Amino acid sequence: MGEELHRCDNCGRTYREEELAEIHDFWGRVSPGEIMPSGECPQCHALCYPQREEPDRSDRTRIVILLDGGRIDQVLSDAPLDFAVLDPDTEGCDEDEIKTVTIYQEPEEVWFHLREGTVDPERVHRIFTDIDR
Ligand SMILES: [Zn+2]
Repeated sequence: MGEELHRCDNCGRTYREEELAEIHDFWGRVSPGEIMPSGECPQCHALCYPQREEPDRSDRTRIVILLDGGRIDQVLSDAPLDFAVLDPDTEGCDEDEIKTVTIYQEPEEVWFHLREGTVDPERVHRIFTDIDR
């Protein structure tokens, strides 16, 4: 675990605890029951609060779902996966493509399709990087 950082509610800068300024007029700015600020921003003098640790996302599976005309065309992933596509609208579907599945509370008939994702970690990484930009 890293050192806890404190984030300014106004300007978003983060500080270590010893960098924070003392809070002026504490009880004029903080009401009982509110989250306790950890100090004052030395830059803009707004209140700073403990920053939650960012969850580690490095071990999460990423998938990209590509649609074509509203239908799933391809599912790219950085780890092997199977996926099920379900559609409660079964009108005009073949009998062998319909199953009774409990998705919510009650069993219902759905059109289903089981498929494998395309494992392509490089492309998935590139797409996520482009989106983050
Ligand atoms: Zn600030």
